[in-house]
Amino acid sequence: MAENTKLSKEKINSNYSGKTDYDLIIIGAGISGMSTALMYLKNTEGKKILIVEKNSYVGGYSTTFRRGGYVFETTQLFPDIIEMIDYLGLDIKLKQYEKDFMRRIVVHGDEVDEYKIPTGAENFTRYLKSKFPDDADKIEKLMSYSISMFSQVRKLKVIPTLKDTLVTPFKAPKVIANLNRTYSGLLDKFDITNPKLREVMETFTSFSGVPSDMASSIYATGAMLSSMTRCFRPYGYFDEFPANMARLFQKRGGELLLNAEVENIVIDEGVAVGVKLKKEGRVIKAAKVITTIDPMVAMRKLVGDENLPAKYVKRLENVVMSASSINIALGLDDDIDLAGMDLDYPYNVVSTGLGTSEKLFDGFIAGDNSFSEDCFHAAVICPSLTTGAKNTITIRCTPFAINKWLEWRENDPEKYKAEKERWADFFINIAEKYFIPGLSKHIVVKNISTPATFARYSGSPTGSIYDMASIVTQFGPKRLPFKTPVKNLYQPKFAHGLYGGMMNGVQMVDMLLNRKFNDGNSLFSPKNK
Ligand SMILES: Cc1cc2nc3c(=O)[nH]c(=O)nc-3n(C[C@H](O)[C@H](O)[C@H](O)COP(=O)(O)OP(=O)(O)OC[C@H]3O[C@@H](n4cnc5c(N)ncnc54)[C@H](O)[C@@H]3O)c2cc1C
Repeated sequence: MAENTKLSKEKINSNYSGKTDYDLIIIGAGISGMSTALMYLKNTEGKKILIVEKNSYVGGYSTTFRRGGYVFETTQLFPDIIEMIDYLGLDIKLKQYEKDFMRRIVVHGDEVDEYKIPTGAENFTRYLKSKFPDDADKIEKLMSYSISMFSQVRKLKVIPTLKDTLVTPFKAPKVIANLNRTYSGLLDKFDITNPKLREVMETFTSFSGVPSDMASSIYATGAMLSSMTRCFRPYGYFDEFPANMARLFQKRGGELLLNAEVENIVIDEGVAVGVKLKKEGRVIKAAKVITTIDPMVAMRKLVGDENLPAKYVKRLENVVMSASSINIALGLDDDIDLAGMDLDYPYNVVSTGLGTSEKLFDGFIAGDNSFSEDCFHAAVICPSLTTGAKNTITIRCTPFAINKWLEWRENDPEKYKAEKERWADFFINIAEKYFIPGLSKHIVVKNISTPATFARYSGSPTGSIYDMASIVTQFGPKRLPFKTPVKNLYQPKFAHGLYGGMMNGVQMVDMLLNRKFNDGNSLFSPKNK
């Protein structure tokens, strides 16, 4: 791919007609916003939809950027969203990772365990049994239970009729039994006590930046199975995906307004009637408003506590937003042989052993971080092996809290820069030690994103990269519902990630259309394919 061509996202422009009244306004042109818009357009006729986005580009957290002649990406893996992409008619060339899903290293002092986690649940089960033969029976039981539980999720209705509610305990007993169970509770249920085996299994909760004793067992199992069953990345850059969505949206008559921050959701006698833009104070009306931005901002700032019932405000106060991250994007010289370093996996992950996620999460909750030489977790991704562009790697490190980063960036730029460099060096050393020998000698361009960077681009004051934290106390019926207490205002934030974002759209549109599209199903199963 030529380096100087425009990125896909840069080719998408506003096509706002200047109308002042719409059937639907969607706030945010991330994956959730655009999935909602496309699913709605496909299942309705003649509706006028406007997406309002504060940034100059579409895609939100799933994006790319250019620095010093290199192109870097935020996201790195498409879980299995192929059915939804095909349904919408999105054209994107994807590379499927056929063999291994992850190269996983666990460090215990000087001892290092390495695993190659294969794609496909059956392969994974076989692999685990070969690595941990003494635990083969337990592994078999855990995995078959997990697969069966995930298949029962398919039978759940998220927009249930009374009959659905009554039959759920019979149709999806494993889901009901696990609604309040943590992932570590699930491992305990199958007597998985071997610490090394637990370390491998907990890979799928540290994914979302939460410890297994807080993560929902259903969510972690779903993340594991939906990611490893079939996983992909674009042959080009990740921004192709949102750009293609935006192009299709505009082609089907949708309107997009970029560089337009929503300052308020306009409420009239308890009903959402439109949005007010920061620029020029322009008000655009709509019969329905959907927000896909950080729920704390949407509800507490754009709506305002004064417009919400006290009970809901209390609920908002108790929501735990997910952690933020430090991402180190490196452009490397041509002398390094990345192809010869066994890095072509969706994820290369290295961490210290059992207890790491708990310590890191505690550090984040305390408003800081707990990374040290003895306690770390990092993912190393190598996109250029697929894109064929100049050598790049990204090192992703979660969880970090935002607190000090904002303060430093605003009041002490030198400290901000020094801390960025300190943490970049720390993680580059880890990547060099476990994955890429000699890495630091090959760095040409270094771009460090901090929690303050994520906050600025996303508009989430906590720089939360995974929306509401996927802990068991905020899962399923305990998560903020799509229907807000304000009439005609909706907030589809069922889950995070590209899969979650696409499903936000599916469930949202199904709700708007009274189940006529997806029959109330929790997973994608449209009535007319
Ligand atoms: C570094 C990183 C790597 C990731 N890697 C992966 C991965 O490999 N695979 C995966 O599945 N997921 C990954 N994720 C998660 C995934 O990218 C997100 O969960 C998903 O993109 C969220 O989409 P969204 O539309 O719900 O929210 P967002 O992407 O946050 O979109 C919300 C949009 O609203 C806009 N907005 C905010 N406030 C306003 C306002 N007031 N007015 C107008 N517009 C506003 C924002 O600018 C943004 O464009 C990653 C996330 C990060 C940060």
